[in-house]
Amino acid sequence: MPNILIEIEGVPRPVRELSWAYRLPCGCIQGCMLPDVFEEEAAWHQWFEEIGRKRERSREINKQRATGYTLTLEVRKAITAEIVGPPCPHKEDR
Ligand SMILES: [Zn+2]
Repeated sequence: MPNILIEIEGVPRPVRELSWAYRLPCGCIQGCMLPDVFEEEAAWHQWFEEIGRKRERSREINKQRATGYTLTLEVRKAITAEIVGPPCPHKEDR
């Protein structure tokens, strides 16, 4: 992986220390993936790559964003700690 620095909350971090975090509308983490791409739009398309047709994929991405799902570059260590932590307790609110 190239030695690229990306600013996370004002701190420049090497890409190898980061991951994309996929979060539910309540803010709880639901999954993560390696930062093979650095643009949010490209990351969404990678996240839903199993939806083969681009138009359907874009529709799903727009729907998710509109309902509050997020995909953000974050520090991998923190993400990992969240993922192994307790699952989302907000199910009733969804
Ligand atoms: Zn939650």
